[in-house]
Amino acid sequence: MKKVVKLARAITLTTLNTHETYLLRPALNGRFGGLQLRGWNRFLRCHHTQRVHNVSPLLAGFLYRIATHFDGHRVLIVAGYRAPRIAREKGNPKSPHPKGLACDFRVEGIATTTLRDYVRTTFHKVGVGYYPNSDFVHLDVGRKVDAFWIDYSGPGERADYSADPKGDLQSEKLPLKLPTTQPAPADSEADLRDDQRVEPKGAQPPKSASSPGSETPKTTPEPDSTN
Ligand SMILES: [Zn+2]
Repeated sequence: MKKVVKLARAITLTTLNTHETYLLRPALNGRFGGLQLRGWNRFLRCHHTQRVHNVSPLLAGFLYRIATHFDGHRVLIVAGYRAPRIAREKGNPKSPHPKGLACDFRVEGIATTTLRDYVRTTFHKVGVGYYPNSDFVHLDVGRKVDAFWIDYSGPGERADYSADPKGDLQSEKLPLKLPTTQPAPADSEADLRDDQRVEPKGAQPPKSASSPGSETPKTTPEPDSTN
């Protein structure tokens, strides 16, 4: 008898810049097959350079879980992988985006504050950035401790970090819910292999026109401090 891999329900991701959609569909055990991951990597390619790079399967599992939680709402991707040159140009060469460890996104019809709180309380050893004026949440994986920051910049503006992100949250009158402990998704082990290293061999694609408007403006910083 043929072995059949049973798949979980697919969820749909859409990129804001290119309006591409991708069906993310792990096996029932939470793992993603090679074909899925190739599609995932391509889907999250650098939209400035078209360069494709491995993007963490752990991050795929997290996005899957987020999409399942906000069932019926589309996950809209602002940025995934970012070529190193682009990260440098945006003034943040240490960003986790060029390592394929980060994604900026929002969920259609869901307040970004709600998304932010869900992400912060659900996942650990992650970096979470809240971009209230650009209306997205940044999530990166592969950290030893959690990090959180708020960047008040709007699209296309330089970073404008909150000096006191936790204090700012409290003044929002939407107190962060206390963490609910949940098990990590099953597919975690594949992440953070060394294929995350970036290395440009070969020609860099031509610089694409900078697209004005609604995409990710700037880089995401990754404060290493844990405040
Ligand atoms: Zn980011």
